[in-house]
Amino acid sequence: MEIQVTGLQKRFVSDGKVISALDNVDLHIPANTIFTLLGPSGCGKTTLLRCIVGLETPDAGEIRIGDEIVWSARKKIYVPTEKRKLGMVFQTYAIWPHMTVFDNVAYPLQTRKVAEKEIAERVAKTLSFVQLEGFEGRPATKLSGGQQQRVALARALVAEPKVILFDEPLSNLDAKLREETRKELKTFLSGLEITAIYVTHDRLEALALSDAISVMRSGNIVETGDPKKIYFNSESRFVADFIGRSNLIPATVESSAADETVVDSAIGKIRGRKTDFAPGTEVTLCLRPEFIRPSRDSGAMPAFNSLRGTVETLLFVGDAYEGEIRVGQTLLMSRIDPDTGFKPGDMVSFHVPPEHCHLVAK
Ligand code: ADP
Ligand code: MG
Repeated sequence: MEIQVTGLQKRFVSDGKVISALDNVDLHIPANTIFTLLGPSGCGKTTLLRCIVGLETPDAGEIRIGDEIVWSARKKIYVPTEKRKLGMVFQTYAIWPHMTVFDNVAYPLQTRKVAEKEIAERVAKTLSFVQLEGFEGRPATKLSGGQQQRVALARALVAEPKVILFDEPLSNLDAKLREETRKELKTFLSGLEITAIYVTHDRLEALALSDAISVMRSGNIVETGDPKKIYFNSESRFVADFIGRSNLIPATVESSAADETVVDSAIGKIRGRKTDFAPGTEVTLCLRPEFIRPSRDSGAMPAFNSLRGTVETLLFVGDAYEGEIRVGQTLLMSRIDPDTGFKPGDMVSFHVPPEHCHLVAK
């Protein structure tokens, strides 16, 4: 089911100060997609999710789920949470420790007064789906973090909602388990005819899981797009910076040709991807570290976008070195192959193809 949010506003008053948690948010979430709200802590992700679920009352705007308006300030419509037919997985899982796995998962059906036989069947089906068959009688506290997470998922799925919402569901897991569960979750959700709204501040989680991402900042949605667009082709400096490590270099547009825009920057004249910026516009040149591939030999490099610099620092991170290369006054982050044998102080050269020189507004 698709979701449409229009002009949504929510303010909180705290210590006499007004906080605009949602500042006129418009959002369209297509049916059957994994849609992520990504942004730094405090940007309004949870508030937006809680408004969609009905746990928070907005000040203005409208929320539509499928064909039904579930909240509208102007039309005075409020559909209570339990009638919105949503499933929700919270950060803390909120599973009940004194109940067994079966009772935790059965709960949403029991409150809906579903017949016992049907409850048993649907719980069994859902537990098998999340690979927890045989755990029915186990107290919820006797489960690992990953298993508890799956109980929470099963409980959210058991009533077969058309929309499932997740608020940072993996943030309590350790790094390795988080990666595994992320993969599982992606597989689970992709196999369902379901719309998933996923809230996280973790960019890798967002990139790995999502069909589409909306990046939020201070109660606003800054940009929406598929993960590759958000990562490689963001429209704003904020998104380019937030979504991954990036070298952000001040630059001024010199000229635009049919397929390239040329800028003058702190690392010299650079041919970048085509933009519509007028000559003279101050912009930011975004260079991802993975596209800076230094070598000792500058012989075979093209006459443009080829730079020389000095290795300043090298940090071993397992599969590569994170290196800093000084070009004039600018330090550029780069990912360096461990077998290059570079040492700090080495002179290196590299060429950055124009398609990897991305220009955004200053
Ligand atoms: P996020 O989930 O992105 O971290 P939240 O939606 O929780 O952000 O919060 C957005 C802003 O609203 C923050 O500044 C937060 O402090 C504030 N806020 C959220 N809930 C309340 C509340 N119940 N009372 C006062 N301020 C709140
Ligand atoms: Mg939150």
